[in-house]
Amino acid sequence: MNSLDQLAADPRIVMRNRAALDPRGRCVVYRMRRAQRALDNPALNTAIDAANALAQPVVVFFGLLARHPQANLRHYTFMIEGLAETARKLAQRRCGFVLRACDGANSADEFARFCSEVKPSLVVCDEDPGRRDAKWKRETILYPSAPLWSVDADVIVPSILLEKEQFAARTIRPRLQRRLPGFLKPVGNPLARVPWKAERKIKSQAVSAELIGCLHIDRSVSSTDAFRGGTNAALSALRRFVRERLGNYASDRNHPEVEGTSQLSPYLHFGQIGPHTVALAIQEAAAPARDRDAFLEELIVRRELAVNFVRYNPHFKTLKSVEPWARRTIRAHAGDPRAYLYTAGQLANAETHDRLWNAAQRQMVSRGWMHGYMRMYWAKKILEWSGSAAEAYDVCVRMNDRYELDGRDPSGYAGIAWAIGGKHDRAWGPERPVYGKIRYMSFASTSRKFASRAYIEQWSA
Ligand SMILES: Cc1cc2nc3c(=O)[nH]c(=O)nc-3n(C[C@H](O)[C@H](O)[C@H](O)COP(=O)(O)OP(=O)(O)OC[C@H]3O[C@@H](n4cnc5c(N)ncnc54)[C@H](O)[C@@H]3O)c2cc1C
Repeated sequence: MNSLDQLAADPRIVMRNRAALDPRGRCVVYRMRRAQRALDNPALNTAIDAANALAQPVVVFFGLLARHPQANLRHYTFMIEGLAETARKLAQRRCGFVLRACDGANSADEFARFCSEVKPSLVVCDEDPGRRDAKWKRETILYPSAPLWSVDADVIVPSILLEKEQFAARTIRPRLQRRLPGFLKPVGNPLARVPWKAERKIKSQAVSAELIGCLHIDRSVSSTDAFRGGTNAALSALRRFVRERLGNYASDRNHPEVEGTSQLSPYLHFGQIGPHTVALAIQEAAAPARDRDAFLEELIVRRELAVNFVRYNPHFKTLKSVEPWARRTIRAHAGDPRAYLYTAGQLANAETHDRLWNAAQRQMVSRGWMHGYMRMYWAKKILEWSGSAAEAYDVCVRMNDRYELDGRDPSGYAGIAWAIGGKHDRAWGPERPVYGKIRYMSFASTSRKFASRAYIEQWSA
């Protein structure tokens, strides 16, 4: 076996076509999508290792969608801050970085054009659990003369190894734990042996704040001062969390007024930090085992259960994704009278009778991040106040994806499916109006569990 064959045997890699290495190829291309970082990135490392074996340089391509139906100024600002830093860090690893803004419709053409300019021997990209086979098939014909490898850079245990949908944390946990010793190790950051030499004819847009001005995006959701994009900001947030909050994580994580969680979700969503970097820092921290274990349960078991849901359940954005018991109970309670019904506009403007819910909505809209405990309450109340569970699911997905900086993420789709449709949960009794056997949360019980008055005051109008 030569070193490229050895590399290809890595279980994180999926061969997306059967093309042989292009003998006329001049470089290795990494098409970066989700793993938008130069640090601890298994997909980038695969490209660098392959290029080193071929004695060729590496160039990273990023197709920036100039229009996006769900992303807005908030998301683009954070992403571009991160990409500017990633471009600099890639140069330190001697890799090129080419960014081209393109419309959804011509992004494939732009990538094919780029490949015909640089002539790759091999194309590497990062895995996306929401991408279905038909899309991958279309991608393989964009540049058919080179092999296309996708590498799972977003999770610790490659999602393909789990093979099928897992129904609860208790079923995925042992499967993940069995494989963790093989995958939860430092990822490493190899240098490209042959540096990329920029050529004038290979055009790239400068990655800067001005770039945002050229995009045709929704600007009605403003950027947020609460989070600055980029791997450096993510590493600072991680260090601060380990130093100040990890030691009380098990008890404080359900206290929205204390903000005892890491707030790393935006960085994980944009791939500005990877789960290996976070998990290894937590494992090595001096905090009590109970707090470290509680955090790793969220970061690994819950997060990778969500990735598994999106990868293996094609209906993850709708109520069709839930289990038969949940569908039955929702159907049985479809005609129950609703004490309150709010329009999508009233919900977006936090105009409900419930001060706690309004506070959570305001936290999300103004800050771009809502505390995890409040996200559960937030979605369950939308179920209670909507004409149907399907409508509630849709409203949750739309608002979550629009306002949360970490929206459009598997953890969001799984969280909404859990809250509205009992996904990864079980049937609960006693049966209640509207909810049926779906787990219920009330204002009284939820607001008793933490200093809700302080939280409401903090996020009052
Ligand atoms: C209705 C609803 C909507 C949600 N929407 C999103 C979303 O859009 N994007 C998003 O990333 N998460 C979402 N979550 C999951 C979770 O609430 C957030 O990941 C978490 O609150 C982010 O804050 P943190 O980084 O401080 O979390 P921490 O408690 O510090 O946890 C560390 C990391 O573990 C992961 N994690 C934590 N809790 C969960 C969970 N329940 N499920 C899956 N992964 C988890 C996240 O990546 C998180 O960053 C949602 C949950 C619900 C119930």
